[in-house]
Amino acid sequence: MNYLPRLTLILFVCCCVISTTSAAEPKADKKPAKKLDYAIVVHGGAGSSPKSWSAEDRAGREKTMAAALKKGRDILAKGGTSLDAVEQVIRLLEDDPLFNAGRGAVMNADGGHELDSSIMDGSNRACGAVAGVKTIKNPISLARLVMTKTRHVLLAADGADRFGKEMGVKQVDQKYFSTDEQLRDLKKVQQQAKTRDKNGQLLPTKPATHFGTVGCAALDRHGNLAAGTSTGGLTNKKYGRVGDSPIVAAGTYADNATCAVSCTGVGEDFIRNAIAFDVSALMAYKGWSVQQAVRHLIRKKTHTIYGGIIALSHDGSIAVEFNTPGMSRAMADSSGRFEVKLGK
Ligand code: ASP
Repeated sequence: MNYLPRLTLILFVCCCVISTTSAAEPKADKKPAKKLDYAIVVHGGAGSSPKSWSAEDRAGREKTMAAALKKGRDILAKGGTSLDAVEQVIRLLEDDPLFNAGRGAVMNADGGHELDSSIMDGSNRACGAVAGVKTIKNPISLARLVMTKTRHVLLAADGADRFGKEMGVKQVDQKYFSTDEQLRDLKKVQQQAKTRDKNGQLLPTKPATHFGTVGCAALDRHGNLAAGTSTGGLTNKKYGRVGDSPIVAAGTYADNATCAVSCTGVGEDFIRNAIAFDVSALMAYKGWSVQQAVRHLIRKKTHTIYGGIIALSHDGSIAVEFNTPGMSRAMADSSGRFEVKLGK
């Protein structure tokens, strides 16, 4: 019997397997030197480069990001829960008009505001979300109430506002969310949407240059992970449009066995690709580190998603990746790390 062709075939198959494995699996990162007791990562949205903002905006965003990080870090340092840290960090960011969440929620095509938010508990996969709320000052807290006070996961539009009223959360008039800057952005994006090429064809609308959604992932001293996200969505979005931020598995995910994730960017991309869940799935099914998973999703799929991801693994490792010119983010942990970054 001639073994040579068979041997050649076996060698060829082995080479193919080795080369596809190494191409698909990004390089592993170092694990934290010492086991971390707690860790937290926050984002203030992906989008334009901070170089294009005014010095005042840059300073303001940096200051609020640092204050939010400190708030979350202190809760965790004192033995508080990751869920409390996530909720309190996001509430603080929702109250600053420089971020596209709560007070600073962008305008939809009608010049109104519809806010989305979600939160997830990695210890038991409990989750809660609200979509398209119009009167809720801090949607993240209402999302948490959906998780703890109902048997549902997602409440939307008028029903969600009504639930907020029943729960006694702070409600506000739509005017509370409106700023001159949002009106200017809306007009700019609407103007862009009317632009035609020389043949009279409408040009595709460019994504808004500055997103500003907020999110947080935390690991507490009890070993529990949690994640949350809050947004006003995309400027000039169609009335009733719901993005990824209130969709668990798209914009937010947490599972103690793997990681906690919050996403930002063009929501439709994140929904189509179930990105937040995919970070966890790559860790669970392929055994990848959180950095490998996040890097793979952002870098290998640039044609399908536009935005950024923050993720925190059960061992306290933090991963941040984005394919936009900038992404505000902040990280802290029990080793004393405390960092705030706006650009690359
Ligand atoms: N992902 C959000 C949405 O599409 C927007 C953002 O992250 O800036 O609603």
